[in-house]
Amino acid sequence: MVKRNSGFANLTAGYLFPEVARRRKEYQAQNPAAKIISLGIGNTTEPLTPHIAKAMSDYALGLGTAAGYSGYGDEQGNAELRAKIAQVFYPGMCDASEVFISDGAKCDIARVQTLFGAHTPIAVQDPSYPVYVDGSVIIGAAGANNGSGYDGVVYLPCNPANNFFPDLSKVKPNSLIYFCSPNNPTGAVSTKDDLKKLVDFALANGCMIIFDAAYREFIRDPSLPKTIYEIPGAKKCAIEINSYSKPAGFTGVRCGWSVVPNELLFEDGTSVNRDWNRVMTTLFNGASNIAQAGALAAMSEQGLAEMKSVIDYYLENARVIKKAVEGDNFKAAGVNVFWTGNSPYLWVQFPGKESWEIFDRLLKECQVVTTPGSGFGPAGESFIRISAFGHRSDVEEACNRLAGWKI
Ligand SMILES: *Cc1c(COP(=O)(O)O)cnc(C)c1O
Repeated sequence: MVKRNSGFANLTAGYLFPEVARRRKEYQAQNPAAKIISLGIGNTTEPLTPHIAKAMSDYALGLGTAAGYSGYGDEQGNAELRAKIAQVFYPGMCDASEVFISDGAKCDIARVQTLFGAHTPIAVQDPSYPVYVDGSVIIGAAGANNGSGYDGVVYLPCNPANNFFPDLSKVKPNSLIYFCSPNNPTGAVSTKDDLKKLVDFALANGCMIIFDAAYREFIRDPSLPKTIYEIPGAKKCAIEINSYSKPAGFTGVRCGWSVVPNELLFEDGTSVNRDWNRVMTTLFNGASNIAQAGALAAMSEQGLAEMKSVIDYYLENARVIKKAVEGDNFKAAGVNVFWTGNSPYLWVQFPGKESWEIFDRLLKECQVVTTPGSGFGPAGESFIRISAFGHRSDVEEACNRLAGWKI
């Protein structure tokens, strides 16, 4: 019989979100009348904005005409979109040849893992977005699970004590470092000084950074860096991954991009950009042309303004939630709330409690779904993540219930 990829056997128990969904479903089955509100999964809820939706609609109708039809495009993406991303998001920092359009950031993170050898050591922020470690496990790069995590993975605790910026001294030389800012799940945004420490460390230790900037458009504090390439030297040590999912509501439409600088090199002196081009042209066949038409519209003045307004809406939700979780009942229970104003996630700590216990109590006592922090890594224990993706009326109703919660 055909052998199973041994990486799958190494994966630890159920992926976080299916377990959240299972518990929610079980509760709903036992309580059919309960009106559950989800502030759990990081999925967008607000409709596509008019200019962006119209561009996709027009493009799709055009495909139904002889003049407007097109088949495969360049696997690296629409040239105009690549140039526009370079110009708008990386002014003076990146060239169009360094930008690759994709079907989303998670897909790019998975594909990026094919670039590196099976024994490349990995370092991740703890807590972190699950695909960094789980993807590495599937391709066999994370090593065996020694009970406290994978032996090929160094976990870098990010917590209130270190202001959510990790101690890098534990990272092995020549590692891949996955780094996400604004962070999912903690919502923390690294400062320029922080990212300079990260880049300087990578350059001095032969490391490469996979920088996930999926939430960059939530940054409202102008002093905070929106891309790793704002830091001198980053083009020699970092790949950046990004997506239209969160800013433009493209979670279902699917369009993202990666930046792989021309000066980024492997140990043997060969170009990472050249191999990435090979991955994208061999294992990928281009993002949807309809999605790319929407992305291009998102880069126009009108599109950028529309994206900003939707993000403002989610940030206002976050402010509403913050007020609720800073209420007297939460204060009396010793709860600590972390929200920077630059992210859709609130990171809420219940000292001495387990994340899943708080999750279950919120589900059963408030009918509110959150995400247990421990699902993102050991340092997430005692935290829950509350997402600001939701309709305002649902957020307000959830907050009313939280205000009345006897903790
Ligand atoms: C939502 C999210 C993404 C986006 O993934 P897509 O595949 O583009 O939808 C990437 N990274 C993080 C940390 C995210 O939370």
